[in-house]
Amino acid sequence: MYKAIKVIVKGKVQGVGFRPFIYSLSKKHHINGTVQNNFDGVTILAEGKDGQLEKMVDEIKRNPPKLAKVSEINVHQIPLSHYKEFTIIPSRKNGESIPWIPSDAAICGNCLDEMNDPYNRRFQYPFINCTQCGPRYTIINRLPYDRSNTTMKEFTMCHDCQVEYEDPSNRRHHAQPICCSVCGPTVMLYNQCGKSLAENQSAIIQTIDFIKQGKIVAIKGIGGFHLACDAYQEKTVDQLRNRKKRPQKPLAIMVKSLEVVRNLCYISSLEEDFLTSPEMPIVILKRKRNGGLPPNISPGLSTIGVMLPYTPLHHLLFGNKQLECIVMTSANPSGLPILYREDHLEYLQNICDYFLTHNRKIDFPIDDSVVQCDGENTIFVRRARGFVPEPLKTTSNVDHIIALGGNQKNTFSVGKQNNIVISPHIGDLENEEMIASFEEHLHHYKAFLGVKEVNVAVDKHPLYASTSIANKLNRNIISIQHHHAHHVSCMEDNGLNESCLGIILDGTGYGEDGNIWGFEFLYGDAKSFERLAHLKYTPLPGGEKAVKEPWRNAVGMLLFYWPQEGKEFCMKLFPDRVKEINMMEQMIVHQLNTPMAGTCGRLFDAISAILGICSISTYEGEAAVKLSDYMNKTVLESTDERYSFHIKTNTPNLLELDVSPMIYQIIQEKLQQQSVTEIIQKFQTTLVSCCIQMVLKLLRNRPELNRTVVLSGGSFQNVFLASEIRKGLQKEGFTVYTHRNVPCNDGGLSLGQIIIAAHQL
Ligand code: ZN
Ligand code: ZN
Ligand code: FE
Repeated sequence: MYKAIKVIVKGKVQGVGFRPFIYSLSKKHHINGTVQNNFDGVTILAEGKDGQLEKMVDEIKRNPPKLAKVSEINVHQIPLSHYKEFTIIPSRKNGESIPWIPSDAAICGNCLDEMNDPYNRRFQYPFINCTQCGPRYTIINRLPYDRSNTTMKEFTMCHDCQVEYEDPSNRRHHAQPICCSVCGPTVMLYNQCGKSLAENQSAIIQTIDFIKQGKIVAIKGIGGFHLACDAYQEKTVDQLRNRKKRPQKPLAIMVKSLEVVRNLCYISSLEEDFLTSPEMPIVILKRKRNGGLPPNISPGLSTIGVMLPYTPLHHLLFGNKQLECIVMTSANPSGLPILYREDHLEYLQNICDYFLTHNRKIDFPIDDSVVQCDGENTIFVRRARGFVPEPLKTTSNVDHIIALGGNQKNTFSVGKQNNIVISPHIGDLENEEMIASFEEHLHHYKAFLGVKEVNVAVDKHPLYASTSIANKLNRNIISIQHHHAHHVSCMEDNGLNESCLGIILDGTGYGEDGNIWGFEFLYGDAKSFERLAHLKYTPLPGGEKAVKEPWRNAVGMLLFYWPQEGKEFCMKLFPDRVKEINMMEQMIVHQLNTPMAGTCGRLFDAISAILGICSISTYEGEAAVKLSDYMNKTVLESTDERYSFHIKTNTPNLLELDVSPMIYQIIQEKLQQQSVTEIIQKFQTTLVSCCIQMVLKLLRNRPELNRTVVLSGGSFQNVFLASEIRKGLQKEGFTVYTHRNVPCNDGGLSLGQIIIAAHQL
């Protein structure tokens, strides 16, 4: 029977080749009608034979374009209009629509096949792309997303490209960055002095040779410049570290293929899915002991950040089988914004030997995303390329609110109708350059989304850069407590609205009593929260200095808990710091530049220093990360052994966790030279118990509380803590949530802030 249906497809279906896909289905199944983008999806009016219509709907469900994410399909029967053909009609410009900005996608299988086919006109062309792959976010300078609003407007399409672009049955129909070697961008190789050495194919071949010879090359990617060198050459990796002044921080690697990754690392099927997804993030994997990578790729760690080649240019670097594994680390000096323009390259003159660049401009830079898998759970360490700026839907009224995030691992969030668009990872707002980069991004997002902020949410910390940025904006400012923002961020990430418990284990955050918080048991929702319990405060002599040099923080704890005996411990543990220990003693006694802190991150730091693992951090979190990693190094029997701790009731409504008995025991065991790995295992197991005992005690005191718990804060990047606390609480009958779409670290803070602001207004 001949009939007509209306199909509404919702989800991520715009700018992902959905309309040409429907067009090709209409040809296959002899269907007439129309397809059109509208404000929240794609609408198809289809007329054809019963069975054929069914088959079309079935194919939409089963086999949509790779970049699409279909969340909902509704099919209704409608009266026949007797269409004579099938047409793609222009988008309906609806005022309610949220301006849509597509994200960058890794090269697709079809383009890769074409690039490797000597008979294809794009054979070995480094900028091949289609509707399913290629740059997007990074090349768009204005909306709507048309070629004339991208940096590709400088390249006029040749006749062949134009024909493909206009043909609705072609897989490059309306692929805005479409190009070929006749009409598109080219690559160039320069030496340190800016002398041009080669172009196109020969530039790539020479780059491969240089890398193989142990040189360091800056390579322009989708979102900015990377520094690349052969990951198998230990000396070169050392040289890169020296030149970049990055002695310890793990370096990400780009690996030729999944087969090679399997030789180097242990990898689960979920991890494989991430590595090969269109987003192609860096995935943190456990390395194999004899996989062949030198240890200086990720010193002191059993894991390594791995990605696959995600641009055609990357694939060509692996093309002639000389290279298998390349270090690919962002080229910017530590603490400065990502480098993405040729006129920024003077920074790199003493760092790299050559530059492999190209003339397709990057309009908006973006870092690589980083994820880590814990069994079936995924942890976003950094949300950027591939994921940004896909909006998150919310039920809260966030329209025209902007949340500026924190100072570390900054992201900001912009509210538009019922959508939240989160910026890419920007970095630490600790210098003028970073603040300028933040402001540039913010300006760009506001313009893109047509948002005029009326309300600006910021962290309560009076000295965060975002506070002064907000003051400059001269709007209604809503200050939000750091850990409340973490708590609500995790709630929102899981669609929770009702008050619940939160365990927030974090680095540092400004507390409402002026102390540094970061080991918090909260209860509440977006409207308000109660602080139910926390870790006992200890002095942080020198403040920020004790964060960068964890041994100082350890000394602070020991002198505070045991003024006499603690000093003896300090002398034994840090024998060459006598002078400084005496000075810190005075600072603590006279409370000079010695803030009080109770945070999980600082506790890990102190234990790391006490155990001699890391006494000075060369990158953020180093001491804690290296300590946590110890447990991956040996196969340990699970243990029930734990250290002692106390839960005290100082005021009737605020419990305090005192771990000084644990620290005392750890020092004894360390001085008796017991196994560090076993101490660490007991330490972490103890922390898990602390959290579970605390929650049980809170519930005994307040049985009316909801038995739902969210886990947030940077310390939950520690997979052991996250999974053991979750399991332990589940066993006690709690429902436990961790983050899903945003990082548990300060990268997720702005999501919590924007929701809290929406509810407080
Ligand atoms: Zn493609
Ligand atoms: Zn062309
Ligand atoms: Fe935090």
